[in-house]
Order: sequence, then structure tokens, then C-alpha cells
Amino acid sequence: MNNIISNLNRDGSLASPWQQSNILHVNNNGDLSELFDCLVVGAGITGLTAALQLQKAGKKVVVAEAYTVGYGTTGGTSSHINTFADTTYTEAESAFGEEGAILFAQAVKGGLNIIKQNVEQYNIDCDLSFKPGYLYAEDEKQAKELDDIYKGATKVGVDVDYVEYVPVNVPYQKALVFTGQAQFHPIKYLNSLADEFIKSGGLLLQNSRVEEVETSIDIHVAKIAGAGVKAKTVIYATHMPPGINNLNMRCAPYRSYVLGVKLVGDNYPDALVYDLQEPYHYIRTHIIDGEKYLLIGGNDHKTGHDDEEAAFNDLEQYTRQYYDVEAVVYKWSSQYYVPADGLPYVGQMPDRADGIYAATGFNGNGMMLGSISGTILADLVMGKENALADLFSIKRFKPVDGFTEFVKENADVAWHFIADRFKAEDLQQLNEITAGMGKLVKIDGKKVAAYRDNDGTLHTLSSVCPHMGCTVKWNASETSWDCPCHGARYDVDGNVVTGPAMHHLEKINI
Ligand SMILES: Cc1cc2nc3c(=O)[nH]c(=O)nc-3n(C[C@H](O)[C@H](O)[C@H](O)COP(=O)(O)OP(=O)(O)OC[C@H]3O[C@@H](n4cnc5c(N)ncnc54)[C@H](O)[C@@H]3O)c2cc1C
Repeated sequence: MNNIISNLNRDGSLASPWQQSNILHVNNNGDLSELFDCLVVGAGITGLTAALQLQKAGKKVVVAEAYTVGYGTTGGTSSHINTFADTTYTEAESAFGEEGAILFAQAVKGGLNIIKQNVEQYNIDCDLSFKPGYLYAEDEKQAKELDDIYKGATKVGVDVDYVEYVPVNVPYQKALVFTGQAQFHPIKYLNSLADEFIKSGGLLLQNSRVEEVETSIDIHVAKIAGAGVKAKTVIYATHMPPGINNLNMRCAPYRSYVLGVKLVGDNYPDALVYDLQEPYHYIRTHIIDGEKYLLIGGNDHKTGHDDEEAAFNDLEQYTRQYYDVEAVVYKWSSQYYVPADGLPYVGQMPDRADGIYAATGFNGNGMMLGSISGTILADLVMGKENALADLFSIKRFKPVDGFTEFVKENADVAWHFIADRFKAEDLQQLNEITAGMGKLVKIDGKKVAAYRDNDGTLHTLSSVCPHMGCTVKWNASETSWDCPCHGARYDVDGNVVTGPAMHHLEKINI
């Protein structure tokens, strides 16, 4: 399982099937001393959608990506494209009113349409195909939830109906079918967006982390590898903007798990199917290099809060319970952000200079919401009106009537913030750490994040996340140190791989 040699890197050690793409972009040459209309930070679906739209509109755009195109969650997604979302339309209505729910439905559909239009306009070969999407209930409680989802979706004009048959091996009571759902290969899509961006004169800088952005007289200067890149506007399309900001407090980081499975026989569904368990599961089929795979995912939990291997084992057990598995070929996990009030945060960053924008809080729906956010951000940069700008504005303050998650998530962050810094844990000593194992140990009264590699070398780091001082936790599946507070993640040498941290974990010599 997962002896996959991948061509592209991702922010985890387990390879997703999308990393088999053969296209590796090289940075194109350009004059970095000129003044850009926009600097886009991050080359995931959000950043490249915004960058391409701006460049096509005649703006001078530079994209700076810390690693390579698709390194972030877009390289670890499961790439369903839906007309419904994790925040149901009923929930959206209870928090944002009927008009808000209708706009939210338009945003989700709008994201789907952007992908479709880009594929058509640029003739992108990314396996885009349209399928029905089924959602099923396994008991009375879930059946009520399903009815609620049906009512909310029909009210906002989403095409959905009750259905008798679902192509799934799990017994169910009641089910819905959403028409016109889709799936695609996210990295093939992203690579083509990058190609188009470059062809239209955009500048792509990979392996170029934006360390900080300073503003003087309306010009933002980004520090990239010691050099200053000047731009009139900046878009943080980094999934979570770096640093300590308002958005860290309003979004909770989650890990989500996916398996790519070969089945005995040909019982692969030609549809997208979801259950209503908590946490939920989904299945779909994707043909990669001529081989059919069942993609089965879910088992989400807050980053750093559960055992990652147990989550994978549980998912595999679930898969084997219902499907005749020949082999589990792929297994991988990635991170997404749950927004406090259910909708993404997009627009001007409240605590930054004018013209510095961000987009985050896409839940597990970033294919649509990242795409639509990319276009909202492009409109904001060009000073154009966008009908969704107010609904998704980062500056909104939403009382949390319908959303107990807000309270739960923030209480949890606060608990870790205090407990992680003051509570001593039952720690093991360095010599108990075997090859491939990472562990928190206590040395001279200080917590140390220690990992022993396969050569026997110990890699010792401060366990204190430089973002806001919480204690990192070992993620054995992805070989990383993950912060349970705001989702900053580091490799075994302390380098930031994802999340809001701006500094690496400090190395400790023992
Ligand atoms: C397992 C899983 C399955 C999912 N499945 C689906 C699905 O089926 N459908 C769906 O709609 N959504 C899904 N999602 C959510 C979706 O994948 C994400 O919301 C989306 O990929 C986010 O895209 P992004 O471009 O905003 O961020 P990312 O893809 O994370 O891109 C951000 C980029 O910014 C770069 N970066 C960060 N900091 C800096 C810096 N300082 N300087 C330069 N670059 C930087 C990173 O390296 C990264 O490449 C899933 C999420 C997970 C975890």
C-alpha cells in the first residue's frame, strides 16, 4: 500500500493519485523588479483561478508558491464538484436568511460553472465528467436530516429529488439524488490553469515562499527569498493566510482521509455517493492511467485531535465491510478549514493594509468555493462589484444562533492554548523512540518534539508551535508535526508544510 513514487510533492508523505501527473512546471522568466498589479500567494485552485482571471483581464500578475503547483490541499483533495455543500442550505438560511441561502447556492453552482467554463474555453483534459450525486440516510434520525436537506435545497432552486435506488453496498432507508454533479482530476486541471496563466503573460514563481508583506504608500512589498516583489494588491490564496490573524480564530483545521481501492470484479459506482454518518463517508470512481479505482473517504477529525492511523484503519475496515477489496493502492490525508458560521471568508483582510485580500473557510467544498472565491477576489482587485462579496466578507460578524460549532471550536482552541503550555504530559524518553516514530519527550523540564528516522538519526525540535504557542502533535501517517490549535504543520526538520505559521519549528540540539 502506498509504495507509490510520485512525481509531484504534496504537504504530506503519503501520495495521492493526483501526484502521478507528469507535468512539472518550471518557473518562467520575468522582470521581478517591475510593479505588479497583483501578487497571488499560493498556486492551489483558489490562487490560480484568481490569477488567470486577472491576467486574462489585462492585469500584470505574479503567482508565488512556496513549493510547487498543487502542493497544498488541492493536491490532496477528492475532487467532487457539487451543487450542495457541507453547510446545508437550511443551515445557511438559519444564519444568513433566505436571501443569503439563495446567494450561497448560487456561489456553489457558480464554482461548478467556473470549472466547466475553464475546461471548455481552454480545452482542458482533466477527466471532467458529470454524474448524479446520491445522499442516503441509514436510520430515522438521518432520514429527518435528509428531509431537512431536501427542503432547504429545493427552496434555493437546487435540482434534487427523492430516489428509490442508490448504487451503494450499504443498506439505507431513504435517499436523495442531486443531478448534474461532477468529478475531475484536480492536478491536471490546475496544471492547465497554470499553463494558460503563463501563456497569457503571467509570472509563476515556484519554491518561492512569501515571508512577509510590508506596505508603504499603497505599494505592497513581499519578501521572497530575500528579494522584494512589489505589487499594488496581494491575494493570500494560501488556504489559511499566514500569521496570527482574525481568520485563525474563526476557522477550525480538520484532517480528512481517502483510500484509492481496487475491487475484485467491476462493481464500481458510476455516481458520487455520500452517507450522513458523523463523520461521514463518500465513494466515487476514478480511472487513473487506465486503472479503475474506488475512492472512498471521510472519517474527518480536528487536526491533532485523533489518531491518524486509527482513522485510516477505521476507513479501511468500513471499506472491506461493504466492498470486495482486491488491494488498497492509495491512502492519503489532507487538511481543510471549517468556518465558524458555515460560509467562507473572502475579501479584504481586516487587520492588514488596504488591498491585501484572502480567502479561506471552504470546508470540504473548496473545488467550488475556492473557484468562486478566486473570481470574487479578482473582481475586488479590479474594483468591480461582485454580488457575493458582502455575504462572504471577512469583516462580517455573524451572531452564532444556529451554529454551536463556533462555540465548540473556539472553546477547544482556548483549551489547547492554555493546557498545551502548562500541562505536563506523561512522556517517554528518547531511547524509547524507535525508527519512524515521533514523540513528545521531556528533556531538562522542556517538551521536545523528537523523531527518529530510518537511519537512526534523532530529529529534535521545540514542541512549541511558533504560530501561537500551542504544543504540536505527531502525525504518524503523514510524518509531520501538526498543531491542534490552528492547523500549522511541519516536517521532521521543522519546516512549515502548511497552515498559518510563518516560522519553522525551532531546532533543538540534544
Ligand atoms: C481529503 C480532502 C478531500 C476534499 N475533497 C473535496 C471535494 O471532493 N470537493 C471539494 O469541493 N473540496 C474538497 N476538499 C476541499 C478542497 O480540496 C480545498 O478547499 C481546496 O483544495 C483549497 O484550495 P486552495 O487553493 O484554497 O488551497 P491549497 O490547495 O492548500 O493551496 C494553497 C497553496 O498556498 C501555498 N502557500 C502557503 N503559504 C504560502 C506562502 N507563505 N508563500 C507562498 N505559497 C504559500 C501552499 O504551498 C499551497 O500550495 C477536500 C479537502 C480534503 C482535505
